Amino acid sequence: MAHINSNYLNIKESYLFSEVAKRTAKFKESHPDADIIRLGIGDVTRPLAPTVIEALHFGVEDMSRGETFKGYGPEQGYDFIKNALKDYYAEKGVELDKDEIFVSDGAKSDLGNILDIFSKDNVVLVPDPVYPVYVDTNTMDGREIVYLKADESNNFLPLPNKSIKADLIYLCSPNNPTGACYDRAALVEWVNYANENNAVILFDAAYECFVSDESLPRSIYEIDGAKTCAIEFCSFSKTAGFTGTRCGYTVVPFALERDGHKLNKFWLRRQTTKFNGVSYIVQKGAAAVFTEEGKKQIKENIDYYKENAKTITDTLDRLGIWYCGGKHSPYIWFRCPGNMGSWEFFDALLEKANVVGTPGEGFGENGKGYFRLTSFSTHENTVEAMKRFEKAFGGND
Ligand code: PLP
Repeated sequence: MAHINSNYLNIKESYLFSEVAKRTAKFKESHPDADIIRLGIGDVTRPLAPTVIEALHFGVEDMSRGETFKGYGPEQGYDFIKNALKDYYAEKGVELDKDEIFVSDGAKSDLGNILDIFSKDNVVLVPDPVYPVYVDTNTMDGREIVYLKADESNNFLPLPNKSIKADLIYLCSPNNPTGACYDRAALVEWVNYANENNAVILFDAAYECFVSDESLPRSIYEIDGAKTCAIEFCSFSKTAGFTGTRCGYTVVPFALERDGHKLNKFWLRRQTTKFNGVSYIVQKGAAAVFTEEGKKQIKENIDYYKENAKTITDTLDRLGIWYCGGKHSPYIWFRCPGNMGSWEFFDALLEKANVVGTPGEGFGENGKGYFRLTSFSTHENTVEAMKRFEKAFGGND
């Protein structure tokens, strides 16, 4: 008889977005004329950059001719994109070998798949609140998870607690859901802690392109010693609007060894066995992000979202509401006005302003009483939503 992986029975129902959808639909039913604005989504809305579209077309053309047609490609990605990524890292002052870079169909897959190369006995450390994928993928494997409290006292950027011993440490900076971004000194502490404990940091840099302050690290490898303790995950999703096109990359340095083995070799083995690479056409499109024209066009999109973030934070500033994020991130995380609970505020915001956001408690215990808005909507909708927000909650806090 086949048996199930009973760890799946321990995964919490992912009710957050379904509950958001349910409450929104119910409201719409009783208020059919309401003009609802959604600032809850973590998905981009700007179309792909023209340079990317052009490169995708070139990729299609290549597939139409015998002499340029591509069948199975290298599982880890074509050299043309790995070299472009290597140069991108070099711009941040990080020297990588192209074979330390693995191209994939996105960061989410790699964040889950990387666990194949780690023992199920490893203890996992995750900050709370957190991107739920880290928790669920480890629960599926039956690993023990220890939570690290992120709250206002540490600006939602927890530092290592020497009394906690963990083997795998998840860090996401700039963070989803809080938008908070670690500075260099904090990452030095994490890297030192990981090296001292032989732990491995799984560093999620999916939002690195939103960092606008030169002094803030955009890669964990900007920190000395990170190559012996960290794997970095990144994505074209938020950088270049690839959420529906799918492309990401993971860096596993040659210097990273545990139990006397190179993790790069293990990951290569894992990928060549279970993954057949990203479509050539998509890799052509993704590589175009790093051309001069591509970089310029991508920046325009990111600046567009950043302007929305500023509209949101300006409103919160005026209302005196505590928040973090928004500056180096598309996410703004704030304390619910009037000491409301997350869901209570969700209902109040929908009722009074017809705006949908995401209740913080959906991301963990420490999200209770907090709320996440995103800057991925249009300018017009963001301005209108925050006008209504201010009218509804001005004077409440
Ligand atoms: N990591 C974080 C923190 C995210 O918020 C997301 C998507 O929202 C991802 C990874 C997934 O990225 P991708 O689209 O590349 O799978």
